[in-house]
Amino acid sequence: MSTPATTATALIRTVTGDLDVSQLGRTDAHEHVFLSSPLLAGEDFQDLGKAIQELETVRDSGIDALVDLTTIGLGRRPAELAKVAQDTGLHIVAATGYHRDAHYRADHWIYQATADQLLRAVVSDIEEGMDASDWSVPFRDTSSARAGVIKAGASYQLISRTERERLEICVEAAVLTGVPLAVHTEVGTSGHQILDVVESGGLPASRVMLAHLDRNPDPDAHEELMQRGAFLVYDTVGRIKYRPESALLDLVAEMVERGFAGKLMLGTDVGRRNTLRAYGGGPGMDVLGRDFVPRLVRRIGVAGVDALLVDTPAAYLRLEGVPA
Ligand SMILES: [Zn+2]
Repeated sequence: MSTPATTATALIRTVTGDLDVSQLGRTDAHEHVFLSSPLLAGEDFQDLGKAIQELETVRDSGIDALVDLTTIGLGRRPAELAKVAQDTGLHIVAATGYHRDAHYRADHWIYQATADQLLRAVVSDIEEGMDASDWSVPFRDTSSARAGVIKAGASYQLISRTERERLEICVEAAVLTGVPLAVHTEVGTSGHQILDVVESGGLPASRVMLAHLDRNPDPDAHEELMQRGAFLVYDTVGRIKYRPESALLDLVAEMVERGFAGKLMLGTDVGRRNTLRAYGGGPGMDVLGRDFVPRLVRRIGVAGVDALLVDTPAAYLRLEGVPA
């Protein structure tokens, strides 16, 4: 007979080891420490020193932990990620899994691999350690940094055939390993179709975080997804080109008012070189703690902010079925 896991004893898998959920702290739920994608030519950021510099500002803004959602093949640097965590003192949860089609060239190996090969890469990133070369050379070289979240991706208003296949594989890996699933949505679309695939693969919607929903700031649509059990992350904090920050503050306050603080997380996803201060750009990865949190505290109070930054990420990131 198994004992049901409780939040108090659950673990979260970080790149420097498994962590009791009570130690997580204020969490930015969507970032990229390193990234390189053909979709973002000239906007890659792979420098270790600059990563440490940027993440020191995040730590100094009052954030304790972050979720790095860089997937397989998009420039993950597992050993360096662990070094960033050690040097800054931040808890970093790293991703495995596969992004939407647009991030991989047509000749990328993920389109040639079998479902079993794609699944084994994800599971071994979680259970043994992320591949040191990010699966870019034809031999396995395991790092000591294990992935603690799986990410998949969908396109605008649709899930392509290959995206669906990879999403099904990521769902299977989440069921097998107990780590949570994150899914990129394009401008907040296809949330219900994603959850349909998740549930038909045997994973409850309550193990999923849908990303970028704030690109479509529609409280009724968000409430429907949360009612199904999904977590949402509003991860365009600081990106004024999408809308004023006041509109995002209104949206967060509205969803908290409706009673969904326990399903909502925040992040900045500043996934381009020109959005990082270490590379001379802005607003910088610390914009959440530096600018947004003080404004949000004035709207919903410290307890409300801590629900979004501490309690909800702890509930989402906990390993399911892995004894503490
Ligand atoms: Zn991202």
